[in-house]
Amino acid sequence: MTQTATLLDGKAVAAKVRGEVKERAAAFAARHGRAPGLAVVQVGTDPASSVYVRSKRKACEETGIRSFAHDLPAGVGRGELLALVVRLNADPAVDGILMQLPLPAGLDANEIMDTIDPRKDVDGFHPQNTGLLAQKRPRLRPCTPFGVIRLAQEYGMKLRGLRATVVGASNIVGRPMALELLLAGCTVTVCHTGTRDLAAEVERAELVVAAVGRPGMVRGGWIREGASVFDVGINRTESGKLVGDVEFETAAQRAGAITPVPGGLGPMTIAMLLSNTLDAADAIAQGRGR
Ligand code: NAD
Repeated sequence: MTQTATLLDGKAVAAKVRGEVKERAAAFAARHGRAPGLAVVQVGTDPASSVYVRSKRKACEETGIRSFAHDLPAGVGRGELLALVVRLNADPAVDGILMQLPLPAGLDANEIMDTIDPRKDVDGFHPQNTGLLAQKRPRLRPCTPFGVIRLAQEYGMKLRGLRATVVGASNIVGRPMALELLLAGCTVTVCHTGTRDLAAEVERAELVVAAVGRPGMVRGGWIREGASVFDVGINRTESGKLVGDVEFETAAQRAGAITPVPGGLGPMTIAMLLSNTLDAADAIAQGRGR
């Protein structure tokens, strides 16, 4: 069988979103006499984090967002890191604060993230922003789930009424993804390590989001004919290749539409981060969001 699914080109849609951000950043700079600013904080030198941080900073430069780099040693103290967040919260040149996760052991990520001013929380991880999304009044929305929704919209997908299954229930992807799909009118199932029959949950779904972090976790044969498949997973194989969580070749023979890895939600996530930064900058400048 050959692949029949439409490839959902996250790279192309991300380029479109970045183009919009670039225009908005120029308009912001013209109006306020300064570029919108994003502080990107990295603690330690985790190689995967360093790759993400570099691409985020580069994407800022390309779109006219000023990026403030804060690289701290893995052994930085809790007090010092909290003090940096407090400084960035008060800095009028900084509209968004991104704390690259995971933080080294010994630092309480919840405590650090909770200290970020919710108006500058461009990752959308602050409990206030998560709570607003849960209450159907989203403000700053977690970038990867928001990227799934934007990608679906760009391909004209009608989400309302769809049976959707999210595999993974993390605070970063799975949970906010479920809230986004609920907001979009889907009937949502969320799977996690306690799920008894993962195959059955995926087989029923007209839309599947995979966010576990294990290659081949979602079998191609489980995918319902014509379903839309969003593969958030990023895994590096022994040969150094990047793959998602879904068995791509077999899934693509059954799905109606599917995201590739790489080139799917990775670029979308960065694009939505930039878009959130402009949303934050505009809201702060207009005195909204408190
Ligand atoms: P995580 O480890 O925090 O969460 C994994 C989730 O999978 C958990 O909720 C767990 O309950 C669930 N899970 C584990 N085994 C399962 C099983 N057998 N059946 C059902 N559920 C199971 O991971 P995360 O931070 O949510 O990231 C998930 C993946 O997405 C990773 O590969 C990560 O690299 C990737 N990711 C990609 C982007 C992007 O930009 N594309 C952004 C964030 C994360």
